[in-house]
Amino acid sequence: MKDKKILTTILEALQVKVSSQVFRTYFKDITIISIDSKTLTIGCKNSFIKTILENKYLPTLNEMAQKILNNNLIKVQIVVNVKNSESHLYNDFPKDDKKEANLFLNNNFKIDTTNEENKSEVDTKINFSRLNPKYTFSNFVVGSNNQLAHAAALAIVENPGKAYNPFFVYGDVGLGKTHLIQAIGNAIIQKNPEYKVLYCSTESFLNEMIQSIIQKNIAIFREKYRDLDVLILDDIHFISKKEGLQEEFFNTFNTLYQAGRQIIVASDRPPSEISHLENRIRSRFEGGLVADIQKPDLETRVAILQNKLNERNEDLPSNIIYKIAELVDSNIRELEGALLKVSIFAKVHNWNISVNDIIQLLDRGSSVISKRKKINPLEIINAVSEELQISVKDIKSPKRHQEIVYARQICMFLLKEILNLQLIKIAKHLGRKDHTTIIHGISKIENLRNTDKDTAKLIQQIKSKINY
Ligand code: ADP
Ligand code: MG
Repeated sequence: MKDKKILTTILEALQVKVSSQVFRTYFKDITIISIDSKTLTIGCKNSFIKTILENKYLPTLNEMAQKILNNNLIKVQIVVNVKNSESHLYNDFPKDDKKEANLFLNNNFKIDTTNEENKSEVDTKINFSRLNPKYTFSNFVVGSNNQLAHAAALAIVENPGKAYNPFFVYGDVGLGKTHLIQAIGNAIIQKNPEYKVLYCSTESFLNEMIQSIIQKNIAIFREKYRDLDVLILDDIHFISKKEGLQEEFFNTFNTLYQAGRQIIVASDRPPSEISHLENRIRSRFEGGLVADIQKPDLETRVAILQNKLNERNEDLPSNIIYKIAELVDSNIRELEGALLKVSIFAKVHNWNISVNDIIQLLDRGSSVISKRKKINPLEIINAVSEELQISVKDIKSPKRHQEIVYARQICMFLLKEILNLQLIKIAKHLGRKDHTTIIHGISKIENLRNTDKDTAKLIQQIKSKINY
């Protein structure tokens, strides 16, 4: 490993091990002066910092160096880096450092949230945490669709690690999962700036894990995550594609869980429907609180639109707001998109707009949505039955003939793809008891669609039959 790489690895590991205040004061400017088989010499800015590092952080640094360099004998030595040295005298410290040095000497790292400087401490925390500060509770509209998830989220802010652990939120895209789980993280940091909170997508979490396995420093990876107070993982369903990595994921997850740290995850489906998920992970999720977010009802959609307009200091006539809410019922992301479209349209037309204009403006874009609304499960099953000449009765029967099973699986697939029905509901419509057969059926047709032209064509034909 190159010196620079070693340094970056050490710094990264430190950043999660110590508070950001300590990191900024003592570690930010360290350099590597030399390495041999026995000693890693680290340079720092001045003798004050040297004393602190030696007295307080040498064991940590030794342990890290040994892990990173895979050498149990290596010891860290601290020297003042003469080239970059600022001063050897505490009195010459820049003002900020002096304050922090005092804090340190008083052994008091508690952050007082009342003064300005500490606000920036919160900002630094948010930066480290990868949270987006725009997602807060104050701009999250609560309706009957997300009430339970919201209440649980608030309880977690009050009692991280204790109230509901792990917390598993699921729902379709654009319904506010990311917003809610980030709001929890932001609120926890506001309340407890000393907490280490980290938000990341499951994809980047796994990528980081893979990297560390390749670079043979999985220990550092574990260390980094083990140290968190709150881990927020978004889009956990991604893990189903990575069966091989679930073991390591489970270890990290378990270590945090057993240490009483809060784990929050979001997914587009409940744990029972994530395919190829190891049973022990699934049951861990189910052992905590599982809450869903549904599509918002009309009232909630109106409230969301009103809220967005308030945020932007804009307004629209209430009949227009109502119409937008009525026309766009799929998800909140589309609702926001529609509102933006209308706002621009309204500005261009000097706010002289009618409900009819809105219908025209939005209907074009969301014709798919309004068409989708009219299709019901029975129509899909009937269409499959006609197209494949298999009776609905047979489709719903326990019969295992190849062509009947195929027709049934096509139904499963289309009920999911077109109506996005829950597996339990699909099972009910098709007279099945067990929804695991539904998971199997859907993924089988998904594969076939990509590999078998006839299946792809059949799906197309059935869709056009029902005007989808
Ligand atoms: P998901 O993660 O479920 O796909 P997001 O959290 O990204 O959805 O939400 C999509 C958009 O809708 C975001 O801009 C978010 O701020 C907004 N949003 C979602 N739910 C709400 C809500 N209850 N109140 C206000 N805005 C919301
Ligand atoms: Mg999301």
